[in-house]
Amino acid sequence: CGIIGYCGKKNSIDILIDGLKALEYRGYDSAGISYLHAGGVVTHKKKGRVENLAEEVEKNRKCCPVIGIGHTRWATHGVPSSENSHPLFNREETMSVVHNGIIENYQEIKVYLKNKGYQFLSETDTEVIVQLLDYYHKKTSDLLFSFYLTVSALKGSYAIAVISSDTNKILATRKDSPLIVGVGNEEFFLASDKSAMIKYTNRFIYLNDGEFAIIDQQNVVITDGLGQSIKPEVVKEELTL
Ligand code: GLU
Repeated sequence: CGIIGYCGKKNSIDILIDGLKALEYRGYDSAGISYLHAGGVVTHKKKGRVENLAEEVEKNRKCCPVIGIGHTRWATHGVPSSENSHPLFNREETMSVVHNGIIENYQEIKVYLKNKGYQFLSETDTEVIVQLLDYYHKKTSDLLFSFYLTVSALKGSYAIAVISSDTNKILATRKDSPLIVGVGNEEFFLASDKSAMIKYTNRFIYLNDGEFAIIDQQNVVITDGLGQSIKPEVVKEELTL
């Protein structure tokens, strides 16, 4: 199970697929990517190896999406299948989430949302994240605030990255699962492991448990769970490929 994200000026598709190949050793019963395109979120996912996903993406290739997220899955809740693969999205397909870890109270959140009329498209624990985000977003019209609210309701372990047609940003956070921000020149990366980013940068921000990263093409802001900014420590490492 691995997460990759890109926000910059290059075509994110190649960077995401490349990153997923570097993360495959963490588990790969399925893989998927989502990216922002023409005011919406486009998602491709596929059971099996990243190579299968790469073929599928190639057949439907869209030009130049510059913001995207990707995932290789090692299933814990829900069989390996296309429906259960990440990214998972809300009903309107306007927001998309990737997650590593386990949401322990997902049944409770699922019941709560089902009572509000939500329907679930997968058997994963992860889907509650995007559906709860959608629920809060419809109530508050504030994506970032909704993300803080959603994450504060989760119990378990997680590294999470979200994109939404609402904003040209990636929102991310972690607790008991790794997540690292890669800092480039007017481009940022996000990955479970720096091996997925070392082609592009040797500067990293190691997110601590409970920290959030709000990434756009110019900047990365790190906050705590209440939205208070934290000065990020950018670590420069000597790396050999
Ligand atoms: N618990 C999630 C699932 O089964 C994420 C698994 C993972 O970390 O890859 O879909």
